[in-house]
Amino acid sequence: MKNFEKVYIDGQWVSSQGNETLDVINPANGEVCASVPAANKQDVNLAVDAAKKAFLAWSSQPSEARAALINAIADGMQARKDELIQAIVATMGCPIAIAEDLQVQGSIDALRSFAVLALEMDKEEVFDSHIVVSEAIGVCVLINPWNYPLSQLVGKLGPALAAGCTVVVKPAEQTPLQDLILADIINQTELPKGVFNLLTGVGSQIGEALSSHPDVDMVSFTGSTQAGIKVAQAAAPSVKRVCQELGGKSPYIIAPGADLEAAVRYGVEDVMLNSGQTCSSLTRMLVPASQLTEVETIAKTVAAEWKLGDPMLADTNMGPLSSHQQQSRVLAYIKKGIEEGAKLLCGGTKLAPEFSKGAYVAPTIFSHVSNDMIIAKEEIFGPVLCIIPYENIEQAIVIANDTPFGLASAVYAKDSSEAIKIARQLRAGQCYLQGAYFNSDAPFGGYKQSGNGREWGLEGLKEYTETKALLIDSTDQ
Ligand code: NAD
Repeated sequence: MKNFEKVYIDGQWVSSQGNETLDVINPANGEVCASVPAANKQDVNLAVDAAKKAFLAWSSQPSEARAALINAIADGMQARKDELIQAIVATMGCPIAIAEDLQVQGSIDALRSFAVLALEMDKEEVFDSHIVVSEAIGVCVLINPWNYPLSQLVGKLGPALAAGCTVVVKPAEQTPLQDLILADIINQTELPKGVFNLLTGVGSQIGEALSSHPDVDMVSFTGSTQAGIKVAQAAAPSVKRVCQELGGKSPYIIAPGADLEAAVRYGVEDVMLNSGQTCSSLTRMLVPASQLTEVETIAKTVAAEWKLGDPMLADTNMGPLSSHQQQSRVLAYIKKGIEEGAKLLCGGTKLAPEFSKGAYVAPTIFSHVSNDMIIAKEEIFGPVLCIIPYENIEQAIVIANDTPFGLASAVYAKDSSEAIKIARQLRAGQCYLQGAYFNSDAPFGGYKQSGNGREWGLEGLKEYTETKALLIDSTDQ
């Protein structure tokens, strides 16, 4: 067990103004693995003041200098990669192999791509009567959930620093450790004091103070739709920009003529990854009714390959969920699916006794699901796949779009040109074609209630900028 006693404000580790702490639980065994300060509103004011004071000098630095510092942070992460991996395994139960590749190395590489994008800030658009430039938006609050904690932090911190913004970061209560390590890494670099500030604490306590603070120019929030709405409401009176990356219930259309074996495998693996705790998970698999039996057989075979176990072991590919609370929530949805009359192909609510201490849920697949069942409508955020049969592709598109969410979608057709035709009719911010995977250069974000704004790539950088027009008097030649 490790105790972290300080928060990071204005370039130094300082005691919180309050004396509350938060226990961090290892979901694989239910034991406390760390304790961190629960920051309060006074800490919020100090952190925002520090970020405000640092803004002018930081945003005026040449882009190359900001890029060099982003790379220095990435170098520090690379050097302490093992510590970052251990933090993620211990706090969210992600299997070590997945934590290493997807959660940590992917995040380090992605941070370096923002060092390259920092140079975009020097570009101007020159017109006859005016010049358009981009400038940093200002002080940004970055609030993250627990499912890809380092990657989500990098997806916000990278573009914020590249644009010239200063930040106050708040990780999820369940997974603060990689952020604390990152603060320590940043503390060893030459990043000017006040540019990066970190508060650990409870969202419902300091979230509103951060979101409503008049000196904060933007809040970038990733998490549940309910908390995202609260952030937007708190931010509204001070007219700040709010970027919301929220939940999803993403459809995956397997079209007639697709390679069924490859298509079903891709869909099952996508949902089981990270124990189903991926906001863009393709949780509604739409398949031709005439091929349902074949789909069920393939899906069951693929699900059986997912080995539930201790996340510290190299051959485990599915760990526990990130908390016992999340486990109860997911098990309640599985029970609901059975009551609603969906056909349980595998998994369910029962597990072997050796998993009783951890927050485990077995890979679970329902077939014969109709889109009006609760399990097809609400985000479950666990390893639960719904297979929904359709009669023709027009009906599949209607079912796919019949959701309040619009984060991701996917199509597997006989070829990519057929897949693109279907993809253009889906109302979602991303569409994965023919088995494609997440790519941190591509913009990511939601339509409808999945959010506002985009993260990653050039679009992600633009979220952290304001556009300025320089108008030139034509007589002044
Ligand atoms: P959550 O909304 O409970 O918590 C997310 C973060 O918000 C935490 O840091 C929490 O402390 C903070 N928070 C909670 N209440 C707040 C408030 N009133 N004001 C400010 N901050 C507050 O979500 P969660 O359960 O931790 O995460 C799961 C959800 O996140 C799922 O719905 C999932 O789809 C979504 N998610 C979305 C994306 C995306 O990019 N769209 C990515 C990952 C997760």
